[in-house]
Amino acid sequence: MGHLLMGMVTMDRRAKIPNINRVKQVIRAFFPDHDCDERLLLRLARFTTEHVREHAGAVWSPDVCRRLLQPLLEPGPRPLINATGIMLHTNMGRAPLQASVVQQALARVAGYTDLELDAASAKRGHRDRHIAALARLLWPVEDATLVNNAAAAVCLALSALARDRETVVSRGELIEIGGSFRLPDVMTQAGTHLREVGTTNKTRIADFEAAVGPRTGCLFKAHPSNYRIEGFTHEVPLHELTALGRRTGVPVVYDLGGGYSEHLALPAADEPSIEAALAAEPDLLIFSCDKLLGGVQAGLVLGRADLIAQLRRQTLMRMLRTDKLTLSIVCHQLAHVQRGLATPTSRLANQDPAQLERRAAALNSLLGPAWRLVPDETYIGGGSLPAQARPGTALAYDGADKQKLADCLRRGEPGLLASIRGGLLRLNLATVFPEQDETVAKLVIAAQSKVV
Ligand SMILES: *Cc1c(COP(=O)(O)O)cnc(C)c1O
Repeated sequence: MGHLLMGMVTMDRRAKIPNINRVKQVIRAFFPDHDCDERLLLRLARFTTEHVREHAGAVWSPDVCRRLLQPLLEPGPRPLINATGIMLHTNMGRAPLQASVVQQALARVAGYTDLELDAASAKRGHRDRHIAALARLLWPVEDATLVNNAAAAVCLALSALARDRETVVSRGELIEIGGSFRLPDVMTQAGTHLREVGTTNKTRIADFEAAVGPRTGCLFKAHPSNYRIEGFTHEVPLHELTALGRRTGVPVVYDLGGGYSEHLALPAADEPSIEAALAAEPDLLIFSCDKLLGGVQAGLVLGRADLIAQLRRQTLMRMLRTDKLTLSIVCHQLAHVQRGLATPTSRLANQDPAQLERRAAALNSLLGPAWRLVPDETYIGGGSLPAQARPGTALAYDGADKQKLADCLRRGEPGLLASIRGGLLRLNLATVFPEQDETVAKLVIAAQSKVV
């Protein structure tokens, strides 16, 4: 009897699948101007009908069909509203981009470009020419190269300078950034031998000095981006390390991490800047372009021309170099930031706390009795300023089904990312752009009516 019933239900579900031409017609209407290649339409029609046949409980409908085709109708990552209070979040694509900068950059390289052509001589030129010419205008550096991210830059630099030799690093700076960037592992990958010196909390220049010998390839310093060692501590300042490097003829590489520029004017940023690092004259300086610098994912290396030429000669360079669009965006972003213009992240970080309070209060009055204002903290994140929680306010939901509500908000259109901490679902407006407040209210009210 049970079998028979199940068979009938299955038949009923199948019977509701329209014939393939009708399904194609429905799918065609999802595309702008109803424009879609016939072969693809057929494939999609079969994909959706087979999905319904193979999944118990699935029923064919235009809505189900649209949901199944979402990766094609809205390809790639989808936009989110970030109400976590963490400004740079790897899971959310790190720095929000300045659309006008990206558009300018795209307009210049969408067609053919002189990426690797020296227009003056009509000979082949290196694609790094563009970023190097810009870097020389912005900073006192001889040369520059751009690769896919800072991890790649570190690996490339160590491979070029210290393969089969030693890289000397303080035990207090053997960083793990997350997403499998662990300095000792990167060193193994680069083929260099890690020579740890000092202790976790104290390393002195004498420790480095004692380690330098004929097997030394480079002296390496990393900014401990996402942690701080406090208390009984000593860290070797970059200028002492570069002085030792010059005395011993060993290159000094500094991994700055976040790419904080003094031109960004973030409030009371306890973060070493590109400019301060360059003043200590490391042979190579490395930083990410999609953290505080606010651009797309890339790793910039600035420094001595002879060493950067050595990096360029590595076979690895062919795998790690960036494409013309990334290169163009990074160039435009650097020009933008160094002119002192705001980025989305700097605008968020520089919001007036009183204004934030007003926005939170306005939103709170729209959301109903389950919501109230609570003290909350804001972080820059993305491996920057770990110790710098900034006090602020969040809208807190203390009603039923917090997790369900958070899930529903995240899956919304657009998705809204809240956090659940201290037993409360929180919306922190410090990472929400003011023009998104109205959307946030609508999304929350809609999700609440669905879930609660
Ligand atoms: C973030 C960070 C990295 C890794 O940068 P990616 O661009 O994500 O590869 C490396 N070193 C430090 C010190 C960092 O903060």
